[in-house]
Amino acid sequence: MSVIKKVTCHVVSAPIARPFTSSRGWLYKTRGSCIVEIETQDGTIGWGECYGPSQVARSFIETQFAPRIIGRDAFDVEVIWEDLYNRIKDYGAKGMAIAAMSGIDIALWDIIGKTCGKPVHKLIGGAFRDTVTAYATGLYFIDMDRLVEEAVEEALEYKHGGFSAIKMKIGLGSPKLDLARVEAVRKAIGDDIRLMVDANHCFTVPAAIRLGRELEKLDVEWFEEPISPEDLDGYVQVTQALDMAVAGGENEYTRWGFRDIVSRKAMDIIQPDICAAGGFSECRKIAALATAHGVECVPHAWGSVIGVAATLHFIAALPDQPPSFRPMPPLFEFEQCENPFRDHLATEPIVLHNGSVSVPTKPGLGIDIDRSVLAKYAV
Ligand code: CA
Repeated sequence: MSVIKKVTCHVVSAPIARPFTSSRGWLYKTRGSCIVEIETQDGTIGWGECYGPSQVARSFIETQFAPRIIGRDAFDVEVIWEDLYNRIKDYGAKGMAIAAMSGIDIALWDIIGKTCGKPVHKLIGGAFRDTVTAYATGLYFIDMDRLVEEAVEEALEYKHGGFSAIKMKIGLGSPKLDLARVEAVRKAIGDDIRLMVDANHCFTVPAAIRLGRELEKLDVEWFEEPISPEDLDGYVQVTQALDMAVAGGENEYTRWGFRDIVSRKAMDIIQPDICAAGGFSECRKIAALATAHGVECVPHAWGSVIGVAATLHFIAALPDQPPSFRPMPPLFEFEQCENPFRDHLATEPIVLHNGSVSVPTKPGLGIDIDRSVLAKYAV
């Protein structure tokens, strides 16, 4: 038994030097997170992370979830998941309630791994790969007078830093400007670097299809969130109309949310976020559903080193999609915007090496948390 003794939420926030935005229009001036710490009676500590507004996640955990898991065995992780979900689903079947559960689930898997002396990926089926090819997420909108130039400069930094794949933001209110910007980046990085675009769901169906056809000519590999996530019929239309892959799902939750996307083949690629969609326990089920419907699973990642490590274990245990002599394995989203919690929260940062990132091999999530960073940025 690994009896859960204490649940602590660390809400952290750090200012960033160069605020940026996407098509959503909100300005990122800080980076923050709700980091979940769970301690067992034998003194084992597990770490998890919740995606989204951190005070809301903390509130869900402190008022709804923590009292229900104290005294239970961390190894009953899926029993706990089902119990928490059934407690919350009448008013929280999607969104922050599930993000809060995700942080708990990840922390419990960290405890199980540390108790067994095995990395999480060994507990969820094993590693199909020791390293994961990473793509750089960046190329947000920062200087509105230099949108094309800044994108080119940033893309070249990633290329020279060793990335073989880059994802850029689009959705500047002018498809012509979007196209000019993608064109300039493609020209600068050359044909050998994989390039994806992310619209953060700012287009209508006809606008997305029209722009998508032009992006295909620039060898853009996937079109992420072309349209609003609620419009599943629209996703079916865009996905069928375009040759390029259509991706989405970072704002979808649980197997029930993803069931409707994959069974209708509304997207070619689903992107569950392990810190949002339900943690390891649920994302494994989501990935299995996707496989059954011939849909690729390439997780979304946007968080601290805890979310990064969890995502790497999850990807390590995903089969090639599909298996082949020289498969194209799922990519790891290595977001590159300023974030001290990604770069400094672990005593040893997770870094890019030859375009790839190593899957952690130490027990649990395989990272050690520097508590001074939690203290420095505590809210
Ligand atoms: Ca995205």
